[in-house]
Amino acid sequence: MTSSPSPGPGSAQRVPVVIVGAGPAGLTVGNILRAAGIDCVVLECETRAFIERRPRAGFLEEWAVRGLDRRGLAGNLLARAERHAACEFRFEGEQHRFHYGELTNSHHYVYPQPLLVTDLVREYADVRGGDIRFAVRDVRLHDLGTDRPRVSYTCPRTGRVQVLRCDFVAGCDGARGVSRGALPPGRARVARHDYGIGWLALLAEAPPSADCVLFGVHPDGFAGQMPRSPDVTRYYLQCPPGDTPGDWPDDRVWEQLHRRLAATGAAPLTRGPLIEKRVLDMHDYVVEPMRHGRLFLAGDAAHLIAPIAAKGMNLALHDAFLLGDALTARLRGLPGAEALSDAYSPACLRRVWDYQEFSQWLSDIYHGAATGDPFRAGVTLARLRRLFTSPRAAAAFAEQYLGAAERY
Ligand code: FAD
Repeated sequence: MTSSPSPGPGSAQRVPVVIVGAGPAGLTVGNILRAAGIDCVVLECETRAFIERRPRAGFLEEWAVRGLDRRGLAGNLLARAERHAACEFRFEGEQHRFHYGELTNSHHYVYPQPLLVTDLVREYADVRGGDIRFAVRDVRLHDLGTDRPRVSYTCPRTGRVQVLRCDFVAGCDGARGVSRGALPPGRARVARHDYGIGWLALLAEAPPSADCVLFGVHPDGFAGQMPRSPDVTRYYLQCPPGDTPGDWPDDRVWEQLHRRLAATGAAPLTRGPLIEKRVLDMHDYVVEPMRHGRLFLAGDAAHLIAPIAAKGMNLALHDAFLLGDALTARLRGLPGAEALSDAYSPACLRRVWDYQEFSQWLSDIYHGAATGDPFRAGVTLARLRRLFTSPRAAAAFAEQYLGAAERY
């Protein structure tokens, strides 16, 4: 489908940019536009309370935090986030700490996604006076190939269809939104990869079991620990792709976490109530180009990356910085503005593909030992050992893990 048929006659509000989706990507684009004095409307299908609590990501790369800071969006984050410069691999019953901060002079910030979203909504709506409409239904995009696209939605209060006429649409509505489906067939290629495995994603109301990220590479499957806050910790367990949370009663979860993260000298895991338990079907996709006419996709709407290397929110922010700047330049009529928006998709995709490649590589390490194939298990362990024996391999890993390359 190119775009939906036009809604019926009626008065349409005029606004330079409509942003679909109030996740990290959409809210960052909105904040950049508002800082430049450009009007926009953000349409979000959930309530404000819901998006401010939805748990997901937590690890931000240093360049992304600097990008937020330059745009006046990192005040709380810089004051509250923990900084991490090491992670720990556990394999063959031993702990192997990897100090990537020393190799890159860079680090991660641990800041749960709901806190970032809360900060971005507050800044956009309450400080910069941005227009955001929550709980809207049935968002549809129209006339995207023309100079005057429109976006319609149903107002939750009145039940009436509202129409916004605009210059540009930013499709930031994540993996399950409508924007990606509005790309005309044949105009964009969607490259997909399925890992053929599941991850049980868990949030425990318990302090972290170690002061850094843990990656357990075990014949039973991968297990991971990611600190989120002093009281909440994310864990992952590799599982068969068709599993449901019902297959994983709490006792089984803790038994497998203990088993897969066990190592000589390691403290026992800190247990607590499991407040989130869901199975992620591990897959990736990339839409190329990330643009059709006056529609620009950003974040998970354009590319999904399984949470193997904690990259998705970072990529969403990278897109948002470039898109916010490109739309600002276009709407202000700055010289070179058209070239900037033409360069948007290729500039985003270079980093996207680099991160996808790293996730593939890391996936082989995480999951190779559990394939039951002694050859793949041997290769996995060789790769892991190389990180601790070859300074060059270690430096390359650290750079990719932090997204710290000079150029993409
Ligand atoms: P989203 O955050 O999905 O936002 C899209 C918004 O659009 C949502 O608010 C949604 O409600 C709204 N929407 C959807 N459809 C419509 C519609 N039809 N109309 C209007 N609004 C709509 N990334 C990292 O970088 N680091 C991590 O540590 C990390 N950990 C993760 C752990 C888990 C368990 C998961 C699932 C993901 C993780 N990610 C991580 C990925 C990260 O959460 C996403 O990449 C990020 O949320 C993408 O931001 P976004 O703004 O593109 O999309």
